[in-house]
This record gives sequence, C-alpha cells and structure tokens, in this order.
Amino acid sequence: MRTLAYAALSAGTPLQPLAIDRRALRADDVAIDILYCGVCHSDLHQARNDWGSARYPMVPGHEIIGRVSAVGPAVKGLKVGDAVGVGCMVDSCQDCDQCHHGEEQFCRHGVTMTYNGRDRVSGEITQGGYSRAMVVREAFAIALPPALDLARAAPLLCAGITSWSPLRRHGAGPGTRLGVIGLGGLGHMAVKLGVALGCEVTLVTGSAGKAEDARALGAHHVLVSRDAEAMKAATASMDLILDTVPVSHDLKPYVKLLDVGGRLVIVGALEEMPPLDAGLLVRGRKQVGGSLIGGIAETAELLAFCAENGIYPDCEQIRMQDIDAAFERMERADVKYRFVIDMRSLQETAG
Ligand code: NAP
Ligand code: ZN
Repeated sequence: MRTLAYAALSAGTPLQPLAIDRRALRADDVAIDILYCGVCHSDLHQARNDWGSARYPMVPGHEIIGRVSAVGPAVKGLKVGDAVGVGCMVDSCQDCDQCHHGEEQFCRHGVTMTYNGRDRVSGEITQGGYSRAMVVREAFAIALPPALDLARAAPLLCAGITSWSPLRRHGAGPGTRLGVIGLGGLGHMAVKLGVALGCEVTLVTGSAGKAEDARALGAHHVLVSRDAEAMKAATASMDLILDTVPVSHDLKPYVKLLDVGGRLVIVGALEEMPPLDAGLLVRGRKQVGGSLIGGIAETAELLAFCAENGIYPDCEQIRMQDIDAAFERMERADVKYRFVIDMRSLQETAG
C-alpha cells in the first residue's frame, strides 16, 4: 500500500513529504488509518542522528492513534473501525522469557522499533507514524478503551508508558516522595501520574518559569536546579526520582536529593554521563538505574487507568507541515507539553 508520510532524508535537512510503501497485510497484521501522532523528543534525536544509528529516509513517530482499516485472516481481537494505539514497538519474537512476561521491549531476539528498526520477516526498515497509514502486527496494536479521548491520547503511547512503567515497578503510591526532573512530555506525564497514584511530587526544573505550570499540573513542590540553596535544603528529601533530561548531565546534584535507600531512574539520556562518585551511592544505599518504555500489557493498563481517571497529556495540536518549527521549540524546552500532529493535515499536502 502506498501512503503519504513526512520523512527526514538526512540528519541536517528539514522533514519533507514522501510517498512510502506499507507492506501487504500478513495473516496477523492490521492496517491502520492514522488520526494523531505525538511528537517525542526521541523523534528529534533520531531524525538528527544524535544516537548514531539513523537510517534514511526516516519517518519518525511512535505515539500513534488510529482506526483499523483492514485485518489479516488470522486477526482475532480487532476489527475494521476499532480505535487502536501503537507505541514504540511493532514486533518481537513473542516466544522468549521477556516476551512471555510482557516486557517485549527487552525481547531476547531484539524488539522491532516502530521506526528506524528492521522488520523481523522482510528485513526492511520500519517507518513510523508521521504518516497517513501503517501496517502492524495485531499484538502491537492496542485496543483503546471506549472512554478515551482520541485527540488527546497519543502521548500516552510513549511519554505516558515511559513514566508509568518505572512508577509501578518501584511501587510509587501514597507516602512515596517522588522527584521528576524536567517538565517536558515525559516529565509532565510523570507529574500527573505520580499525583494520581498518591505520591508527594516535586518537580525539579531548569526553567524557573515553569513553577506555576508544575503546580497547576498537580506538583506539590518545585525545585529550580540552579538554585543551589534550595537544592541543598532538599537534600535527602526523595524516595524515587525520574530523570527525563534529554542530554548527558551530572547526576550528583540529583543523587543528593535521594533519602537513604532511594532510587534514581534515568529515562531521558541514552548516552555517556559524567562520572559519579560511588561513595554517594554506597553511603545511603542509593541506586541509579534506567527504564525503557513499558510492555504492551502494561501500556493497556495505563490506557485503562487514564480513561478511568480522566488523565490526559497537555497536547498542543499542530499540522504535519509545522513539524520543523515544533522540533525547534522542543530543542528550546518550549513545549506545553506535547505536540500532537493532526494527521488530517497530511491530506492537504496530498492536494
Ligand atoms: P521534552 O518534551 O523535550 O522534555 C525534556 C525536558 O527536559 C525539557 O522540557 C526540560 O525541562 C528538560 N531539559 C533539560 N535540559 C535540556 C536540554 N538541554 N534540552 C532540552 N530540554 C532539557 O522531551 P521528552 O519527549 O520528554 O523526552 C525526554 C527524553 O526522554 C528524550 O531524551 C527522549 O529521547 C527520552 N525518551 C526515553 C524513553 C525511554 O523509554 N527511556 C522514552 C521516550 C523518550 P525543564 O525546562 O523543566 O528543565
Ligand atoms: Zn518517545
């Protein structure tokens, strides 16, 4: 199936319209008409080749909301017209211990990412949601709860689940003093979900101007990371910290915020960090770890939780044609708090 998309052709060029071919339906595939796609900071990292693994042309986008337009003969749980979400993964072996216990992102045979990945069957490069349509294995198209507002749900598929998974794994709930570093797409979801789970939430931000917003989102406290005195006063005041900063940075000031036995989970930066004095961890039994998105069942759990509790990302809707301006604003940490592309705008490009 030929469809229209927006693609990066190289690291240094703006995204542009490109016709791409989606594979013919396999037995367990569904075809999806894409309605909305969120803009994740990872899309910017990938399009600009920040991680050194970019393959061009590249169609980014892994916060996808759409409707099923066709199903393969072996599809059991979805039918034409169903609203579905697709996140960062489109396939995995479905047969290893990781897949069996619902952590497809850690598939022993390599998970297939939604874009800039390699299809397990054909070897072709996968292409993401900045597009009118896609084809995906049924197991990776998640049926959406009927109560979910489709126009605001897209960022749950990455920013939401990436925040939710470590919160749940580390038992965040009433009594947990949660720190969230960075108020962007991931950070604002971590604040909202942390509050909904009953945590006492502190936003740690580099942007003093976001304090009011953070409180409006539910944060109980705001710490400006450049305010040395305030940071010192907050020593040993947190049990769990989610670090969403998208670039390499010194962890020391944040590890100091952890109380005895506390844990800092990195979800933002995927690169080398400045060295960390192990004494800071040993004295206080602290842990620094990481987390990668979340599994399919866990994503379905999050979608149900959000539908039930009316928790949505703050979305700024844009047209596909405005993606480069959106990327630039994202680089300046100037997003409130997630861009979501209305894919009807791509129709205009087609004429
Ligand atoms: P975003 O919307 O751009 O937010 C990032 C926030 O980090 C900014 O709003 C800003 O908050 C803070 N920040 C600090 N230093 C910054 C800098 N030099 N440039 C820009 N922002 C800076 O990004 P996002 O979509 O939340 O993604 C955050 C990171 O998580 C990205 O690196 C992304 O690739 C990664 N990610 C990881 C996973 C995973 O599975 N682990 C999943 C999705 C995304 P303040 O103004 O409050 O300081
Ligand atoms: Zn993402």
